[in-house]
Amino acid sequence: MTFPVSDMSTRGFTTAVLHSDRSAGIEHGSLHQPVHNSITFEHATAADIAAVFQGKQAGFTYGRQVNPTVTALERKITLMEGGRATCCVATGMAAISATLLTLLKAGDHVVSSSFLFGNTNSVFNTLALYGIDVSFVDATEAANVDAALRPTTRAVFVETIANPCTQIADLAGIGALCAARGLLYIVDNTMTSPWCFQPRTVGAGLIINSLSKYIGGHGNALGGAITETGAFDWSAYPNILETYRKGDPANWGLQQIRKKGLRDMGATLAPESAHHIAIGAETLALRQDRSSANAARLAAWFAAHPAVARVFHPSLANHPQHERAKALFRHFGGLMAIELKPEVDCFRFLDALQLAVLASNLGDNRTLVIPVAHTIYAEMGPVRRAEMGIADGTVRISVGIEDADDLIADFSHALAAAA
Ligand SMILES: *Cc1c(COP(=O)(O)O)cnc(C)c1O
Repeated sequence: MTFPVSDMSTRGFTTAVLHSDRSAGIEHGSLHQPVHNSITFEHATAADIAAVFQGKQAGFTYGRQVNPTVTALERKITLMEGGRATCCVATGMAAISATLLTLLKAGDHVVSSSFLFGNTNSVFNTLALYGIDVSFVDATEAANVDAALRPTTRAVFVETIANPCTQIADLAGIGALCAARGLLYIVDNTMTSPWCFQPRTVGAGLIINSLSKYIGGHGNALGGAITETGAFDWSAYPNILETYRKGDPANWGLQQIRKKGLRDMGATLAPESAHHIAIGAETLALRQDRSSANAARLAAWFAAHPAVARVFHPSLANHPQHERAKALFRHFGGLMAIELKPEVDCFRFLDALQLAVLASNLGDNRTLVIPVAHTIYAEMGPVRRAEMGIADGTVRISVGIEDADDLIADFSHALAAAA
């Protein structure tokens, strides 16, 4: 009994995820793809091993490149994103660096949103050392991206909802621009996850997901994924090596990422982690429904609190991209930030919390808080921080799935203690 990827059109998101392993067929009637810890795989004949290595026959070569547990997770992510194919790697950062380092070369130019995950910002600075120019623009307006384009521009990179101040890129406008100019459009969908938004719908060619966040959801496994949507015409892309210009051009990009990025750079997703993430993915929709509802309730509550100067969450009517979020996303998401009034001691507030956890992650089932200027954005310096709208009293809150009343009680108590 099997149903292919296209059956997402007739089955719901969660049904498809839950039944994806068994529908591909597993021994003993197992419901989960087992954890295959073998790093190599036996072949019956010399002709078989040759055919598998040359990609002429399906099969497994070596664990750095391919593993049945990881393949099963790749199938799930492809289903969730409505894509063509997915390559899983060890972390979200491995997904980003494998993509950029294998598809760009010296002399190329990239336009990126200036509202970025801190480590992604750092990768772009590394690219500059290799002769790849990056322009950071305010991507909430497609016109800013357009104005930064050069004849050497190869790709545009954006996140869906930026961290920590929740700016939302002009996802559809930039998609239309990339389509008109033949540019590769890379969308980091980590903050929304495919349950809230599918970047394929705005013309993304490649989608990045950190599996460590909402998709895994339980804070117990790191992982990353690159999904090919089929929207981009790789035959016109100059950086695809001759070796990978074979077969259907719609597969060339991910093929090159899989070979050059995963096989050669070697940031392989461990099978044990793939299993944890696959189990987490089964409840992605349920968890995000809950965390998004909790976040919207907390945002409204903080907005009315006298100790809070600003609240950043797309659910608020005064959020600059509130209408865009409503039009594009299923939910407003579980991530928010608050800026405390200058007279409120930020560290005293954080130390008074009893339930919300002081930790640097997001998309966990538990509510996590972090003072961003002093931690994740410390290395970036005050100028880029100011550009990103980050103040010293900005606290990022990744809202979990706890009971909302308990969260409000905890924040209420801590604000009182710090005021
Ligand atoms: C966390 C995150 C990443 C990196 O993911 P890791 O799995 O931690 O390497 C990339 N992009 C965004 C938007 C993130 O939130």
